Amino acid sequence: MSIFKLLFKKSDLECPRCLGKGFVDWEDIQRLKKELKWVPAPCAYCDASGKTTKEMLSKVPVDTAFLTIDLPESEIEKIKNGDTKTLKKGRLKELFFDDLIKYTLHHHLNKNMDAQSITDLYLKNEDSNASFSLERENLLQYIEKVIRLSKSNPE
Ligand SMILES: [Zn+2]
Repeated sequence: MSIFKLLFKKSDLECPRCLGKGFVDWEDIQRLKKELKWVPAPCAYCDASGKTTKEMLSKVPVDTAFLTIDLPESEIEKIKNGDTKTLKKGRLKELFFDDLIKYTLHHHLNKNMDAQSITDLYLKNEDSNASFSLERENLLQYIEKVIRLSKSNPE
């Protein structure tokens, strides 16, 4: 490699989310512990370029925001610009899913409930002022996924 290429390469930072591949795969998802939140997809952190900037790294944590779940491009743009409101919304959404995961595991492991009954119970007690909600079908699918993953990697 020529010295110029070497210098050029050093001035570019490897994207910490996809490790320079431009694509987030299951290994990256496991490394960042986002099994229940992300699916393999082109990397939204570096725009699939594999490279990122110091500025981006300082403004946006590598594990922030959903990668593919209902995030419109305009929101991705805002996150990249470090928009605090959008980042806050992203964190709230993460909390929503964190709670849902805990809820599911609690009812599944301690009360032996299946995905269907957990979904029903959740919807029955859902706070109408909750910051996020899911359609029944999506909720059920998500809860099924949580249960499936809890069986394949017990913590
Ligand atoms: Zn990337």
